[in-house]
Amino acid sequence: MINLVLFGKPGAGKGTQANFLKEKYNLKHISTGDVFRYNIKNGTELGQLAKTYIDKGDLVPDQVTIDMLRDEVEKNPDADGFIFDGFPRTGAQAKALDTLLKEKDMQIHATIALDADDQVLIKRLLERGKVSGRTDDQDVDKIKNRFEEYNEKTAPLIEYYQEQDKFHRVNGIGSIEEITQRLSEVIETIRPPKTIK
Ligand code: AMP
Repeated sequence: MINLVLFGKPGAGKGTQANFLKEKYNLKHISTGDVFRYNIKNGTELGQLAKTYIDKGDLVPDQVTIDMLRDEVEKNPDADGFIFDGFPRTGAQAKALDTLLKEKDMQIHATIALDADDQVLIKRLLERGKVSGRTDDQDVDKIKNRFEEYNEKTAPLIEYYQEQDKFHRVNGIGSIEEITQRLSEVIETIRPPKTIK
């Protein structure tokens, strides 16, 4: 089993890369942003609550997000492993993830950050916003607020994972294939190639 966390600011390419990696390594991809958007689309209570935060580019409160993540993990008891995309984003979430995995005799094997410059990310997000219709991708102030949330609340997790020797960084600029290759090189240091499906 292999459990990965993909780190990176909004627009760094976490979702795109997770979609390739989940096929390559037979992992279940959990994107908390996608689960929130699914709930918003379906008008659930969780969706209505999350929307008030997402629309401003703020993080959704920890407990709501942690409970949702637990449900997603528990829906997949037979998974060969998980790619967590957009979770954890705060210290409380990182600790809750460790506790949840420990309960199930699991652990995080690696966290990998996709690095890219803010100006590149803003450009990418505005382009994505035109296609996806995501309102949080269409407004530079909201995008900058999401970057601030990342810098204040998520970036400190780098130290948390570095202390456990589980933090890696790859250059997030390049073609999709090049970046998948860089990520795979990190993953293959923690999982022998012969076990890859
Ligand atoms: P994303 O699709 O990962 O860019 O997430 C979109 C939005 O969903 C974020 O700006 C937050 O408002 C919310 N969100 C997603 N994941 C989390 C999380 N782990 N903690 C809090 N809020 C989150």
